[in-house]
Amino acid sequence: MSVRDFYKQKITVARVYGIPVRIDYRWFVVFALSVWLIASNLHTAPLELGSMHLPPVAKFTAWTLGVITTAGLFLSVFGHELSHALMARAEGIEIEEIILHPFGGLARLRSQPESPGAEFRIAIAGPAASFVFAVLAFVGARIAWVGEYQTIVAVFFLMGGGNLLLAIFNLFPGYPLDGGRVLRALLWRRSGDIVQATRLAGICGVLVAGTLIMFGIYMAVAPSFHAYFMGLWSVLVGLFLLDAAVSVVRQSQSLRTAIVSDAMSPPFALEPDLLVSRFIDEVLPLHRQTAFPVASNGRLHGIISLQDLKSLPRESWRVKRACDVMRPIAPQMFVTQTTTLMHARELMQTNGVGSLAIVDQKGDLIGFLQSGTLRVRKKRR
Ligand SMILES: [Zn+2]
Repeated sequence: MSVRDFYKQKITVARVYGIPVRIDYRWFVVFALSVWLIASNLHTAPLELGSMHLPPVAKFTAWTLGVITTAGLFLSVFGHELSHALMARAEGIEIEEIILHPFGGLARLRSQPESPGAEFRIAIAGPAASFVFAVLAFVGARIAWVGEYQTIVAVFFLMGGGNLLLAIFNLFPGYPLDGGRVLRALLWRRSGDIVQATRLAGICGVLVAGTLIMFGIYMAVAPSFHAYFMGLWSVLVGLFLLDAAVSVVRQSQSLRTAIVSDAMSPPFALEPDLLVSRFIDEVLPLHRQTAFPVASNGRLHGIISLQDLKSLPRESWRVKRACDVMRPIAPQMFVTQTTTLMHARELMQTNGVGSLAIVDQKGDLIGFLQSGTLRVRKKRR
């Protein structure tokens, strides 16, 4: 089992602003572990918070506080991801899902940000939210302190600390952490070359991951039990990041030399006279694409994008046909299979449909590319 397969199992627990929220099964294990760690600490040892001294609390209280604090921390992670997701939506990007996995969360976007500015704003939204949560929690702790609600002080204080850690950790400048995305946005703006920017941010990600793993091993060999936990944790998070960063670096390297035929999929084309209602009822459920080429007898007529369809009133679904709602063929909508993937990518980012039709020398449709799912599949020798 690869490291990535390890994170695949998940269940949908809610929909927030229409975004499915999914939880990885292993998340429950981490939740229980966190409750236990917090509860056993509060039960056995006094908590020293600056000038405040919280004596060990009764077992039941300790477990209750453990559950509340853990729930609060995981809600904070969710709030962090939701903040990315809503900023992405404000930038016109659709959200596939929010995943809560054992090492935090992930807001999965349907397509990549189209400018360094958008990338920067989406990346910074998460840590900014965590920072705000931290400040609010510390203010809450302060208020509870004045009211002498010691256990509430403890909950708020732990949540404040957790959120502050979340904000700072995510700002480490290595892709795919938020800080790495910020770095990529800055490099991208400076050079105008997104592939090179991604590669550099990915390399920084490998370095950050390596540091976490080494730091974790160091903590694990230290004699204290809790440092062993923290160390193991740090190693696992490091491995998770390493896997993601290495694949990003590989991907960007292959993108440099790849051509369109290395990445295109066989075209699934719509007939120009296909009714929009039939398209939505029969075609869409079977094909997870955000755009479709329209062609008859292999000749390309245009491209339909789901984004464009959204503005079409429901009443006209039964009268309009594919050729009425497509964007008619234009030079920025198709390329030949020997075009470099870099150029294809640039076109997709600016042509308004986020996709490209691939035609051969005779002008027949032979393939299709979508920016959201762009992957180099074939390795050429
Ligand atoms: Zn984030």
